[in-house]
Amino acid sequence: MGELAADKHVEYILSVEKRKDSVESAVMEHLRVNGAYWGLTTLDLLGDVVDSDEIIKWIMKCQHESVPSTWWKNMDDDDALCLQVVLLVMLAIQVLALFNKLNVLDVDKVSNYIAGLQNEDGSFSGDIWGEVDTRTEKLFLCSLFEVFCCVAALAITGALHYVDKDLLGWWLCERQVKSGGLNGRPEKLPDVCYSWWVLSSLTMIDRAHWISKEKLLKFILSCQDMENGGISDRPDDTVDIFHTYFGVAGLSFLEYPGVKAIDPAHALPVDVVDRIFFRQ
Ligand SMILES: [Zn+2]
Repeated sequence: MGELAADKHVEYILSVEKRKDSVESAVMEHLRVNGAYWGLTTLDLLGDVVDSDEIIKWIMKCQHESVPSTWWKNMDDDDALCLQVVLLVMLAIQVLALFNKLNVLDVDKVSNYIAGLQNEDGSFSGDIWGEVDTRTEKLFLCSLFEVFCCVAALAITGALHYVDKDLLGWWLCERQVKSGGLNGRPEKLPDVCYSWWVLSSLTMIDRAHWISKEKLLKFILSCQDMENGGISDRPDDTVDIFHTYFGVAGLSFLEYPGVKAIDPAHALPVDVVDRIFFRQ
């Protein structure tokens, strides 16, 4: 079985955009808020340290003062309305948390904005047009927990006893195919990104041991570009920053040596989540 080419992956993430001089600019401008989160979290999981000042400045520049639906833009010069506003809020907060800089946020403003999107039935809208789904609820709860209060944390973890863990665990572990990789639905090809979605879910319901970890490990490692770094969705495909993150996060669940532990509910390194928790 091959080994994790951690140094190569760090190099790959840092060199994604070579037109800029500084590492931080490169990571931010090319990848935008969501990519910044994936890339920077991966670097952290691999134990690499980047200078946070420029990143924090850029993240805060992406805040939009006047129009709530673009509360967090994808880039500081992006005026377009963003339908994924909730996702961006969460990811921007995740990046700030990663660098221990949650103090730069106007907590009241963010809290009011998020709370204002809650509907009477308790569900949350993803934007001002009122799109509702469970994904946005999860994102809201994550955002609220990480930053603001323990109530949302209770909502996240407290809901787990409503889940039929055996039934869900069975369906999730059925996602492992012969090659060891995990797919998203029956009859679909395996994809490294499901290492995260499936394994984090299995971990949260204490059923991660129902899949063959050894086979999954082999699959993830086989998706590496050993020459130029990065991880792809499947062996021999083109690498990208997202699958590099998902692959490394998957290896974190598999307790691969040298990869920091990741929190399955909050998609941040465990030490970062602990820091937020203890601070509150
Ligand atoms: Zn994928």
